[in-house]
Amino acid sequence: MQALDLNGFLQSNNNKTEFEISVRDLPEYFPGISVRLPFTVRIQIEKKERFVSVILTCDVTADSLCSRCAEPALLSDSYASEWDIETTDSDENGFILNGMLDVDALLDETLYVNLPSVILCREECLGLCHKCGKNLNYGKCSCKEERRDPRMLAFAKYLENNNNDTALKEVQKNGCTKA
Ligand SMILES: [Zn+2]
Ligand SMILES: [Zn+2]
Repeated sequence: MQALDLNGFLQSNNNKTEFEISVRDLPEYFPGISVRLPFTVRIQIEKKERFVSVILTCDVTADSLCSRCAEPALLSDSYASEWDIETTDSDENGFILNGMLDVDALLDETLYVNLPSVILCREECLGLCHKCGKNLNYGKCSCKEERRDPRMLAFAKYLENNNNDTALKEVQKNGCTKA
């Protein structure tokens, strides 16, 4: 567990302080996304009246597979989170206990909220053909495109919006619903 001892800072006359921590170990947040280690987390702390304001920033690079075409995809992004944390012993979210700041918990929350569940090799990735599985980024396949009645598509969307799953599946399967 990575924790920062804030006791010295809390008892001092300083209003602001800053830390940099190198993260060398991480739990797996989402299957198939592996964050490159180590990476640096920056923590800025400022005293307010009855709490401290904590800002965590980090630059994350992660390896994954494209959600559309399954080719390797690289994620590179900066994340920032901010908390107002009471410094009393009864801090409800438990980020500061006995003057120790739980950096792991802050980082967990930041990554869990910010890491995307869908990563693409590039924004305009064309993905795989649903029929033959060919990667369409390398060119078209010879499968014929399915034609769908636009009225049925509108109806399917209506059902989707109204969470009518059973009827929606029926429409997708048969192109119509039973009367
Ligand atoms: Zn892709
Ligand atoms: Zn195809």
